[in-house]
Amino acid sequence: MIAFCVTRINYQCIADMVKEWSQTSVKGIVFEFYRPMKGEGNELWLNWAERDKVIDQLLALKETYRGFIHVSDRIYHLMRSDLAPKITQNGPFSKIGFSYDPMGKPKIPCQLGPNADCSRCGCILSFYSMLLTHRSLLIPEFAASAWRKLIDQYKIRVSAIHHLSQKITAH
Ligand code: SF4
Repeated sequence: MIAFCVTRINYQCIADMVKEWSQTSVKGIVFEFYRPMKGEGNELWLNWAERDKVIDQLLALKETYRGFIHVSDRIYHLMRSDLAPKITQNGPFSKIGFSYDPMGKPKIPCQLGPNADCSRCGCILSFYSMLLTHRSLLIPEFAASAWRKLIDQYKIRVSAIHHLSQKITAH
């Protein structure tokens, strides 16, 4: 599994990257967005409009590379400009996760420490924390996941039956 942190430097490589790595034995990719520190500029951080465009691209790529891009559509929707700042301003990760520095001291609110700029966070853990702590989001997520698995299984079986019937007709 690959973790890809989307920044201003690498966001234009996403499509090529997915295509290239999907042809290897790697099982999948998780995309998240760069988390800046307070006061940091836009050297690495994509602004909200840019992030929204990348999310559109990721959702479109998921249609082609379903099963290889592992983050759910719901999480990517939570990462959009209309929802993300409201979610991260409450630091959802710190409510269910924990981080320690090399000396074993707790790092608050997360791995980045006190200078983390939560208002621009793109960390996947932040959004999964939101999902895990809100039943109204979690239940549809489970339902969507179960439905996707059901559809995938159905497609596999239909394809197997199709191949079998082709073989039988050929004989
Ligand atoms: S993971 Fe949570 S605490 Fe850390 S920067 Fe992002 S929003 Fe803030």
